Amino acid sequence: MIAIENIVVVGTELAIAWADGKESYLDFERLRRACPCASCQGEPDAAGTVVKPKVTYNEKSFFLARYQAIGGYALQFHFGDGHGTGIYSFAYLRQLGGI
Ligand SMILES: [Zn+2]
Repeated sequence: MIAIENIVVVGTELAIAWADGKESYLDFERLRRACPCASCQGEPDAAGTVVKPKVTYNEKSFFLARYQAIGGYALQFHFGDGHGTGIYSFAYLRQLGGI
């Protein structure tokens, strides 16, 4: 399990320093569009088909209001429009950052 050494907000990006020395720079807009929660990405129906919902954003959607660590394996982001149900696992964050 990879750990996070440090998290810094730089402008409109979140910079994450990982314990293995790698770094991720994740733009808030990119983070929001990649939100893994069911209302953003959809849920499989009885047949296992996932239909991606139509998500609407406003000017506050791509503002990161705050974040919190979840159990040492994920981060939860709260965006300026009040959306905050997405739990981003460290593995997912690294994948988003191209690691
Ligand atoms: Zn979401």
